Amino acid sequence: MYDYDLLVVGSANADLVIGVERRPAAGETVLGSDLSVHPGGKGGNQAVAAARLGARTALLARVGDDGHGRLLLDAQRAAGVDTVGVLVGGAPTGVALITVDPSGDNSIVVSPGANGRLTPGDVRAAGSLFHASRVVSTQLEIPLETVVEVVRCLAPDSRFVLNPSPPLPLPPEVLAACDPLIVNEHEARVILGDALVSERPEDWARILLAKGPRSVVVTLGAEGALVASGAGVARVPSVKVEAVDTTGAGDAFTAALAWRLGTGDSLAEAAAYAARVGAAAVTKPGAQESYPTAAEAEAL
Ligand code: ADP
Repeated sequence: MYDYDLLVVGSANADLVIGVERRPAAGETVLGSDLSVHPGGKGGNQAVAAARLGARTALLARVGDDGHGRLLLDAQRAAGVDTVGVLVGGAPTGVALITVDPSGDNSIVVSPGANGRLTPGDVRAAGSLFHASRVVSTQLEIPLETVVEVVRCLAPDSRFVLNPSPPLPLPPEVLAACDPLIVNEHEARVILGDALVSERPEDWARILLAKGPRSVVVTLGAEGALVASGAGVARVPSVKVEAVDTTGAGDAFTAALAWRLGTGDSLAEAAAYAARVGAAAVTKPGAQESYPTAAEAEAL
């Protein structure tokens, strides 16, 4: 019996957002709107998304010993995430400085801060969390060497889910552990690199699968997703909604899929459920603030 349905290992950031009429040129100052501060980071987002759905969720992450770190911990706990694995100190909390112009375009500067200090040693020290978790998911906003250590610390019968974002070429050891590897179009293009010989997402899924993962999911925004495994490639239909803000939809999709796989769903079933959760997340502004409960996802 596992204590956790899902262990998320990953980043936690404070997103600092200011609306501007236009961006400043070098050496210039412009006035913007009031500041709004939102809990974010792909790891934090995944953990909150899973917990909102009812998954017993733990987060392994690092935040600074500062106000942003406390804000992020509070947001995780309010969603029901177990933060026993969140380490504090070593660097300031990760921050994303976001300016939004009137057309809705973002410019973002990320300071990884404490996320960059989550080390392989931190992962080894959290070994008991790995043995207590049915599914483990991560992303690439923490050092790649730390992700490699996550793969090495997996319990023999637990399942590993990776969303390689921001995308980097992945070592074979990490690729071989993914079940599934979850990519959007941009991530698929970067990871395929020279192997990108087709514009068809079905071909990306097949070629990615041949690189070693046990299964692959390609998310296609409003078009839904594709799942690929030894059983072939299948399309997962999207759920039609009025999109308000797509921020964090991929994180909600990944968390929902990872959780459902642990409950015994097939990859296609879990992806169909995750598509409902991703669709629900785009109907509200923000990332963590937009994530549905299980009842809200099912009501779509
Ligand atoms: P990312 O946020 O990583 O770029 P996607 O945009 O592909 O990922 O979104 C992840 C999933 O969320 C999609 O596979 C889909 O199921 C759902 N989704 C995203 N945007 C929409 C949308 N406009 N309408 C319905 N579902 C959406």
